[in-house]
Amino acid sequence: MEEALTRTGRRAKNKEDYDPNIHRLPWYAGWLLIALVAFCGTGSYLTFFILPSALTLTNLGLHPFAFNGARSWQTLRQLEALGPRPTGSRANEVLAVQLLEHEFSLVNASRNAAQEVLYDKQIVSGAYVRIGASVYRRVQNLIVKIVGEDDDRHALLLNCHFDSVASSPGASDDGASCAVMLELIRVLSREPRKPRHSIVFLFNGAEETPLQGSHGFITGHRWAKNVRAFINLESAGSGGKELLFQSGPGHPWLIEAYSRAVPHPFGQTIGEEIFQLGLIPSGTDFAIFHEFGHIPGLDFAHIFNGYRYHTQYDSIAYLSPAVLQRTGDNMLALVRLLANGNELAESANRAVGSDVYFDFLGLFFVTYSTTEGSIFNVIISLGGLLVGCWSVLAIVGWRHWPCVALEVLHGCVATLVGSIVALLFNLGIAFMLDRTMLI
Ligand SMILES: [Zn+2]
Repeated sequence: MEEALTRTGRRAKNKEDYDPNIHRLPWYAGWLLIALVAFCGTGSYLTFFILPSALTLTNLGLHPFAFNGARSWQTLRQLEALGPRPTGSRANEVLAVQLLEHEFSLVNASRNAAQEVLYDKQIVSGAYVRIGASVYRRVQNLIVKIVGEDDDRHALLLNCHFDSVASSPGASDDGASCAVMLELIRVLSREPRKPRHSIVFLFNGAEETPLQGSHGFITGHRWAKNVRAFINLESAGSGGKELLFQSGPGHPWLIEAYSRAVPHPFGQTIGEEIFQLGLIPSGTDFAIFHEFGHIPGLDFAHIFNGYRYHTQYDSIAYLSPAVLQRTGDNMLALVRLLANGNELAESANRAVGSDVYFDFLGLFFVTYSTTEGSIFNVIISLGGLLVGCWSVLAIVGWRHWPCVALEVLHGCVATLVGSIVALLFNLGIAFMLDRTMLI
């Protein structure tokens, strides 16, 4: 008797029970699949909008060492009220600088007596070649340093830019990041103990021109040479969660530190792959710190409502104190961990390999090395293939293996061809749209 299975998986007693239809499933399987997809889609969509409620000004007495979203919001309101701040404009070179320097003086007045907070205004000229040539003159960088106990040998850098494009008030890009950084300075400078390592806060005045302020700092400022890692705060949208979209390159300890420290994780390796392969014709100060300073770092951006990026709609109307609270909570935890841990001092020794990472619905963060990732991928791919072939052969009979192998080969080739055709189709449409726009 030929060995075969019925469609319910029971061993057939005779040839007449043989059912070659391997695609038949119970009637409810389709509905279950639809329900699963709907649940996952709805769940991930809804969790995308969950933000922690912002602390208010009345909470300041109760939580003096917590990031305060309301106080940070006040700074953002003032910065946004200056309007567009392109590099070279009065709004950027005079008004924004005055506003930030005034805030720095208030911070210095309210710092704990145990803390040493330094301020330096860098006016820098220079040039670099990257994609194209970029020449700049008298760009302004405002730099605050909370001096650490280890005498400045290993510093952490945080970066934002206070300039904007001419068409936008730059509330999210990158006023929100400047407001977050100012609040971090307020909180950290009031702590009763110095951090172990120095923390350098760079408010650069020329990012949109592009990337000149960060280049001026990393190649020309005396505090740059001791920086062992950086955190770059950017925006490519307006509101929502800040996405960790780039790390390293290499230096998996940075991802591990993020994973341990932050209360609200949100990051995907896929962004890093796309960015570092050069597939996106855009860059952040991350690239400058890496290419000219040879420093590893983490790149964050608010990406929600990307259509507001660099438009008049990147305004405070589409942000909220909760957005700043979330970013601030994460950055404060991360800065505290890095500024007081061993990682910065050992960064050169820890630059081995790289990590795969992602968050699960914002609830927790998963990381593993790329080597482990390759092993998982091979096991899952081969396992899937073997289980699939096994199931089919168990139904149609093992002697039909050449036919099944041929079907699998057809499936692989069809998938590959389909992917290539889909890619070419999309590139073709993008090419045609580009030509239409140029005309
Ligand atoms: Zn920006």
